[in-house]
Amino acid sequence: MYAELFQYPVGREGYYGQFGGSFIPEILHETIRELTTAFDDAQADPAFWDAYIALMSSYSCRPTPLTHLENLSKDLGGAQIYVKREDLNHTGAHKVNNVMGQGLLVQRMGKQRVIAETGAGQHGVATATMAARMGFECTIYMGSVDVERQRPNVFWMEQLGARVVSVDDGTKTLKDAINATLRDWADSMHTTHYVMGTVCGPHPFPQMVTYFQSLIGREARSQMLEQTGKLPKRVYACVGGGSNASGIFAGFLDDAEVELVGVEAGGLGLDSGQHAARLARNVGSTGVAQGYKTRFLQNAEGQMRPTHSVSAGLDYVGVGPVLAYLHDIGRIRVEAATDAEVLASLQHVMRREGIIPALESAHAFVTALKEAPNLSPQDSILINQSGRGDKDIFTIAEALGDEPWRAFLRQKVGEWEPETAATDGILT
Ligand SMILES: *Cc1c(COP(=O)(O)O)cnc(C)c1O
Repeated sequence: MYAELFQYPVGREGYYGQFGGSFIPEILHETIRELTTAFDDAQADPAFWDAYIALMSSYSCRPTPLTHLENLSKDLGGAQIYVKREDLNHTGAHKVNNVMGQGLLVQRMGKQRVIAETGAGQHGVATATMAARMGFECTIYMGSVDVERQRPNVFWMEQLGARVVSVDDGTKTLKDAINATLRDWADSMHTTHYVMGTVCGPHPFPQMVTYFQSLIGREARSQMLEQTGKLPKRVYACVGGGSNASGIFAGFLDDAEVELVGVEAGGLGLDSGQHAARLARNVGSTGVAQGYKTRFLQNAEGQMRPTHSVSAGLDYVGVGPVLAYLHDIGRIRVEAATDAEVLASLQHVMRREGIIPALESAHAFVTALKEAPNLSPQDSILINQSGRGDKDIFTIAEALGDEPWRAFLRQKVGEWEPETAATDGILT
């Protein structure tokens, strides 16, 4: 099924069922074609994947470990819980897998500048890191709300040599940052590559990002077999745009007996209207925006609805077209976890296991820990820990009501004046 997903019927390139495609202004056609060709050539060249693996193992701690959560497995008395440790990547999340792969493609295409959008800031830090290492000029667009809540990442992007532009449009989050980046790209495409951070946007991005992130699933599948002698019953991953989920699911798509479970941001609850769920309970509806067709969180008139999540990385209106398709055909199940559940499970996991998941990753923990007791201790389940929680220090301190600590941290980071850019959405 994995290979099948990426074989298109004639004239349906980049479509997964009714989702995906490439809805871009004429001006971007040439650069998208160039990218598709470079990616096809790279995929056909075995030396490219070998170079990618060599880079990731020498630069980013791959293969990342698989950790058995012995304490929590015992406490809950159900399935053995295993965690794929993407938090141990260089820069602290799975984002670097995709970014370094795209960096190698940029070298093949001979471009000198990269631009990217970022939500949680992890993709921005990963892109700034790649640009520093590979010698590219780098600009990062970020919604001003996200700039505020992810300050440590903004600091590091700038230290790594990137220019960070704060976007003040719309809801001032990821969707608006994507529009600003596309606008830059339309002006600069001859020298510049847009490093898309997740499995969204026009073809070939969903396929390309899944290709690089599939490293997670390939490693995790063989690690599970090695450590437990069998496949997990279920695999859990949080779903923002959908790249860490697509990456780990890719390793198990052909194993029909493995249930794949995505967890979206339930925010203040799905009934509150304050969330970022699109697939869970089918709250999203089909539409076209930002270059692709998927299930968006929108109102009856097709206006994008504001999203809310305690985690910046899941706070997005769209979702990868591959996941929308897999959900439609019943291959994946999608649930939602609320902000309150996320904070509670985060504290619990920290205290019992000494690991600090990112707020995004903690969504996957919520559903996995809820469901583990229903399985037998002979079974195992696998959680993708997409990133580490260090970047969330302000949000967590604030959410837990730790005001003195929060004030202290703010003082340490100091006042920071973001550069702002007014943009009107190019593809919405
Ligand atoms: C960006 C991010 C996510 C969400 O993005 P996906 O494309 O859905 O994986 C999840 N976890 C972390 C730690 C992130 O930085």
